[in-house]
Amino acid sequence: VSASVILFIVALSGNYFSFHNNFLLMHFLWLSSAFSFGLLSAFIIEKSNKLNFLNEMNLEYLATTDRLTGLNNRLKIENNVDEEVDRAKRYNRGLSIILLDIDDFKSVNDEYGHHIGDVVLREFATVIQDGIRKVDAVGRWGGEEFLIILPETNIKEAENVAEQIRSKVENYTFTVVGHKTSSFGVSEYVQGDNSRSIINRADKALYKSKGLGKNQIQTL
Ligand code: GH3
Ligand code: MG
Ligand code: MG
Repeated sequence: VSASVILFIVALSGNYFSFHNNFLLMHFLWLSSAFSFGLLSAFIIEKSNKLNFLNEMNLEYLATTDRLTGLNNRLKIENNVDEEVDRAKRYNRGLSIILLDIDDFKSVNDEYGHHIGDVVLREFATVIQDGIRKVDAVGRWGGEEFLIILPETNIKEAENVAEQIRSKVENYTFTVVGHKTSSFGVSEYVQGDNSRSIINRADKALYKSKGLGKNQIQTL
């Protein structure tokens, strides 16, 4: 636009003074240089806008993603729980939470090394992701523990989702280490809940699963 405006102004003024031959040539040079300058500025602005956009996307990705598994990080999934609890409260919608933890994961690191432990974590993350719907969200809660948010889902349905994932994990053959199991705690939004209370119940249920022998699902 700036190039065209300059071109237009200079063309008009050139037309006004165009009684002399040399002046016409000079005018033509001035015209093309003004146009190039405008075009260059537009190009630079366009490029810097693109770069800013990519930087913002990259920052957003880094701030919300767990580097090892590529899942949402703790901060992001915590914010998600806050939002979903607000929604459940405001619109009286169902909401369930699953906390899951790999059983005896420490032994993977101890027997095969930290690198293989990381590989197992990545594979575990893909198994979970394959077992949930598009509207559900999953994040790495810490170490070898993950949190799944199931909007519009009651505790019975959430238990079914947990069972599907539990069985998928049990039957999955992990690289090097072979078979692993996982334990689950499931909770459902009830009136008066906030994000902390609903997660606390899932955490207690998970603790119960561990205490009762692991590789199982408990609800609270
Ligand atoms: P439980 O069945 O009771 O859950 O036992 P566990 O061994 O799975 O749990 P514990 O809390 O004793 O050990 C968790 C281990 O997870 C210890 C820690 O070194 C390992 N860990 C946490 N984060 C990572 C990670 O990013 N990479 C690897 N390789 N290991 C991790
Ligand atoms: Mg564990
Ligand atoms: Mg753990």
